[in-house]
Amino acid sequence: MILPPATLHDLTLPALERELEAADVRPVHAKALWRVLHREAAARLDLDRPEFLPPLRRWIAETVGEGKRWGFDLPEPVADLKSTDGQTRKFLLRLGDGETVETVIMGYPGRSTACVSTQAGCAMGCTFCATGRGGFRRHLRPGEIVAQVLHCQRALRAGGEPGLRNLVLMGMGEPLQNADAVLAALEIVSSRAGVNLGPGHITLSTVGVVPGILRMARENWPYSLAVSLHSVREEERRALIPATRRWPVAELLAACRTYGELTGRRIFVEWTLIAGVNDTPEEARELAQALAGINAHVNLIPLNPVAGYEGEVPGHAAAQAFKVALQQAGFPATLRQRRGIDIAAGCGQLKGKVEGGC
Ligand code: SF4
Repeated sequence: MILPPATLHDLTLPALERELEAADVRPVHAKALWRVLHREAAARLDLDRPEFLPPLRRWIAETVGEGKRWGFDLPEPVADLKSTDGQTRKFLLRLGDGETVETVIMGYPGRSTACVSTQAGCAMGCTFCATGRGGFRRHLRPGEIVAQVLHCQRALRAGGEPGLRNLVLMGMGEPLQNADAVLAALEIVSSRAGVNLGPGHITLSTVGVVPGILRMARENWPYSLAVSLHSVREEERRALIPATRRWPVAELLAACRTYGELTGRRIFVEWTLIAGVNDTPEEARELAQALAGINAHVNLIPLNPVAGYEGEVPGHAAAQAFKVALQQAGFPATLRQRRGIDIAAGCGQLKGKVEGGC
């Protein structure tokens, strides 16, 4: 797999300082560049900016640009769709090498959340997910993940709205299969001098990549963890998420326990409710039993329609009964509202392709 060449957006602030130092430019200049790149979310670098002093200008002129040491991540918006209720906006973004990813802004009263992609395509193959059905293309570089956040910032500001408050890594791809790039990207967007998304406002979602969860626990990543469980019955779970045959349910739950013990953090368990598959009160009780001893909050997500998948969304009564069964077993549970369905921006609907009319 060949990744496009590195860009300025791949660099954490300490790495940028080291680069400048190596070129005999005092690292103090890195802060000025960093603010322009990440706080302002600038779409280009104008050398005549007053905050760029001569040594920094020279460095930028010599090293940044096409064919030079550092590229500049500026994904091209191929489509920009708004849901009819105006609360969800989805972008299809073309990366430097032509790959496309989808990025979503979800609006709530007084705040916005970005949902970004971490891979072009996905190798996990979840049967109810449009991305999984399309297969894996490649990992994203840190800068390509950061650039999606910056694109959302520019879009919000252009509409006179405040910038992002929250970030979820729940777009295309499995973040823990691209963990090094994800870790660097999150360090960049949580920098106070830059986008300044506090770690407590960032949630990483995994289908249950056990080595990645254990790494997050041992390295004490300061971000929230969401685990897409969907079933605690081994065969049923494998049918929904084929790639998880490598990490049986018992092993995954043990990793979640270790995560809780080492970090003291609560885990968000994501459960896509599919009628007749995993939506009965009996299965809710099995889930509660499996989660015993784990500090968990369960998010229930009614299935979103995906072409080629036959599963159906459960009725409201079934979803409620599932939630109540969990709560009676002592687990907090939230039944999430479906959002952005009309523009295929809901969980599992991202395809990374323009479809008629986009
Ligand atoms: S649900 Fe997530 S992990 Fe599963 S195929 Fe889709 S993008 Fe990949």
